[in-house]
Amino acid sequence: MTQWQNWSGSITSFPAEYHKPNTLDDIVSLVQRAKSEAKSIRVVGSGHSFSPLVATDSMLVSLDHYAGLEHVDRDACTATVKAGTKLKALGELLFAQGLAQENLGDINEQSIAGAISTGTHGTGIAFGSISTQVVGLTLVTGNGEVITCSERENRLLFKAAQVSLGALGIIVSVTLRLIPAYALQIDIRKKSLTDCCTHLDEYNRENRHFEFHFLPYTNTVQAKFTNISQENPAGKSLMRWFNEYALENGALWLLSAFNRQFPQMSERVCKTMAALVTDASGVSNAHAVFATARFVKFQEMEYNLPAENFQPALNELDEMIRRERIQVHIPIECRFVQRDDIPLSPAFGRDSAYIAVHMFKGMAYQRYFELAEEIFKRYGGRPHWGKMHTRTADELRTLYPEWNAFQLQRSQHDPDRLFSSPYMHSILG
Ligand SMILES: Cc1cc2nc3c(=O)[nH]c(=O)nc-3n(C[C@H](O)[C@H](O)[C@H](O)COP(=O)(O)OP(=O)(O)OC[C@H]3O[C@@H](n4cnc5c(N)ncnc54)[C@H](O)[C@@H]3O)c2cc1C
Repeated sequence: MTQWQNWSGSITSFPAEYHKPNTLDDIVSLVQRAKSEAKSIRVVGSGHSFSPLVATDSMLVSLDHYAGLEHVDRDACTATVKAGTKLKALGELLFAQGLAQENLGDINEQSIAGAISTGTHGTGIAFGSISTQVVGLTLVTGNGEVITCSERENRLLFKAAQVSLGALGIIVSVTLRLIPAYALQIDIRKKSLTDCCTHLDEYNRENRHFEFHFLPYTNTVQAKFTNISQENPAGKSLMRWFNEYALENGALWLLSAFNRQFPQMSERVCKTMAALVTDASGVSNAHAVFATARFVKFQEMEYNLPAENFQPALNELDEMIRRERIQVHIPIECRFVQRDDIPLSPAFGRDSAYIAVHMFKGMAYQRYFELAEEIFKRYGGRPHWGKMHTRTADELRTLYPEWNAFQLQRSQHDPDRLFSSPYMHSILG
């Protein structure tokens, strides 16, 4: 028996078997054996989900040894990649081919299959989640079959598999729609929440990517504006290095350790952090711009909201933190994502805003997240599948118009529920 733990340490499980197959044949054999022995399987990417999607006491499969580029079509700007490939390695492999992903989230530690399976997203109103960059997939289903799907082939399975929580089978390769490699300029600016809310539409419209981190108990935000640049990428400037390592990690860690000891000082800590926010700019190759280092560990809940509900929901969150004297100092992250047509995608059918609340590891998060979730629920929120939430299948099915289309594919391709677990049962039924 092996012990497995997720990135934040919130989930520990003891799988009876832990496998890292090297070949497609090995993966198929594992699924067939699980089927014949009536054992359940969960697949792990990088273990960066906060929710217990991966937890199992049965078979755990990692594709860490099944990684790398399979095929690149430069004319079509697509690449097929083995599912265990980590986003950081993927960015470098694609860059060497003169290609890049159009958008990414704020870290690059995840595996490509893990990232798409929960609908991992970045920011930018003209871009969907990473799942929308997928144009084809190959899975080993719960029937032990290897099936390839795309918009043109097995379309219903393809749509379901674009965000599938590991419930349809093991994704073994992913074909991505890419664009020629490009450089981005990032401008980090200290602004007020009032300014960001007043100019929200303009900032979203006029920048390729716009997001901000809002410091509770203050009116201060750290806003990030990211746009295509024709300048030569220069790596991280001193100011960006200072921002990312000294402020977003070093100072944040020190203040977090202090606040964990003295949580009643949260407001003071937030104000100190607000005073430390500084402007910085830099130009880098796209794959190096999106990701930032995250050495400070935390727990997180993130909700997708209809874009038009963003401001009232954020206002209520701000008021709730002040009213309830919530002991928190980690900023609230606000991002914006284009709608899609993927049955289990939180952005299904609506242009979306994402609001994420965090708590430093070791500090009590339950009451904060509970009160935040009540607000998100009232504004039509759908939880990020990879982050903490308390929603169950009965509630979730009412939030997803194409829920049954997903379940039909699940019944067809995993009739014995090989890819289930008590947690999967609780969210998918
Ligand atoms: C520090 C940090 C920053 C983050 N930043 C962002 C962000 O900017 N945007 C965002 O949206 N999310 C973000 N997340 C959440 C994260 O992107 C998702 O939880 C993502 O799913 C994690 O990828 P993973 O490879 O670790 O997958 P895991 O957490 O290991 O698995 C996630 C799901 O994918 C399934 N899965 C994995 N591999 C396969 C496969 N080969 N076949 C079938 N199913 C598979 C698993 O079974 C599970 O259901 C962040 C998380 C952390 C810890």
